[in-house]
Amino acid sequence: MALPRLVPPAVVDPAQTGALRAEVRAYLAEQLAAGTFTPCVDAWLTQWDEDFTAGLAARGWLGMTVPIEYGGHGRSFVERFVVTEELLAAGAPVAAHWIADRQIVPALLKYGTEAQKLHFLPRIARGECFFGIGMSEPDSGSDLASVRTRAHRVEGGWSLSGTKVWTSGAHLAHAFIVLARTAPVDPAHRHAGLSQFIVDLPGPGVEIRPIISMNGAHHFNEVILDQAFVPDDMVFGEIGDGWQQVTSELSFERSGPERFLSTFVLLAATTENMAAQRISRDASLGRLVARIAGLHQMSAAVAAGLQRHDPADIPAAVVKVLGTTTEGDIADFADLHAGGDSQYADLVRAAVDQRPGFTLRGGTNEVLRGVIARGLGLR
Ligand SMILES: Cc1cc2nc3c(=O)[nH]c(=O)nc-3n(C[C@H](O)[C@H](O)[C@H](O)COP(=O)(O)OP(=O)(O)OC[C@H]3O[C@@H](n4cnc5c(N)ncnc54)[C@H](O)[C@@H]3O)c2cc1C
Repeated sequence: MALPRLVPPAVVDPAQTGALRAEVRAYLAEQLAAGTFTPCVDAWLTQWDEDFTAGLAARGWLGMTVPIEYGGHGRSFVERFVVTEELLAAGAPVAAHWIADRQIVPALLKYGTEAQKLHFLPRIARGECFFGIGMSEPDSGSDLASVRTRAHRVEGGWSLSGTKVWTSGAHLAHAFIVLARTAPVDPAHRHAGLSQFIVDLPGPGVEIRPIISMNGAHHFNEVILDQAFVPDDMVFGEIGDGWQQVTSELSFERSGPERFLSTFVLLAATTENMAAQRISRDASLGRLVARIAGLHQMSAAVAAGLQRHDPADIPAAVVKVLGTTTEGDIADFADLHAGGDSQYADLVRAAVDQRPGFTLRGGTNEVLRGVIARGLGLR
């Protein structure tokens, strides 16, 4: 029996995107020479730099896929892929705009009202509006249908109460999209009765409590909603369609180059150290480089699929499982072969610290293997 194709065929045509890639590389080299940033591991989650974001916005590298009438640049997903891949490979500080640019843009374009698009999209493209994701709760991560945050109908809008957790960047973002229950659980249709809301950060009835990571960093938060009022015009999509909307958002969240390049700067530094014989030679390094090369092709193929509006949940799951596992293996490899200077040791330490999150955030590998099994017709 022939297995179905899980990821579309590779597509990036260097003739079409080569000039753009060279332009981004030249800009990053300039910024690096000017000392604007220090390359970091996992910079898309941990390095929040609004000035750097503003610089990218000025060059038209934010809101690239947003139509021009909404203040964007009307470019393709493949072009956005090229720009984001270069930023990630350089370990540039892109956390401020990452969530807004990656998944809020396509979600707004698909489900937002005209007023929401006109309000948020130009600000996102200008690097002036940052978003968080309010899906997970203390007892609800993989099984999002079990969220307990409730939204009750009130005069002119909705009143939200509940607790969101692991909310990256909530203390710095302007808003987050909250998944809440708007109808009681129907055991026969657990995914029904969920809805999404755009909630201001900070805002009345919204308390943001920091969660400090074991390395002392603050990017996570717990966000307590206590009768937070959301006006009708900030309902996101249709009431009751939250599950379908969230799953379509996850395709954008899971397939991008940040799912295999979080430790790329460490891989590059390891290669340099090995070439300079500051660490001992090992054939496993070649395997890691080969895996990254394959993931580049697969992730680019998904970007082209998104451009065609193909369903992307299964290919995105494949890229995320293979990519995040590779990111972690790079951290482990560098940790085992440690050596080099203190800058290198910092990269290794950061990669080892961040490693547990790679295969958890955006859906765990176990859960994604279930998605892939469904794609193969095995469940
Ligand atoms: C760095 C980082 C950033 C994050 N940022 C955000 C954010 O901004 N917003 C947000 O909403 N969330 C965020 N999260 C939360 C993340 O989405 C959840 O951690 C993730 O979905 C897993 O949920 P959980 O932690 O509740 O684990 P659980 O769902 O409780 O899972 C625990 C274990 O059980 C396994 N498991 C669960 N269900 C199954 C199943 N059906 N089959 C097999 N195994 C299963 C899991 O694989 C895991 O190993 C972030 C997480 C991390 C690590």
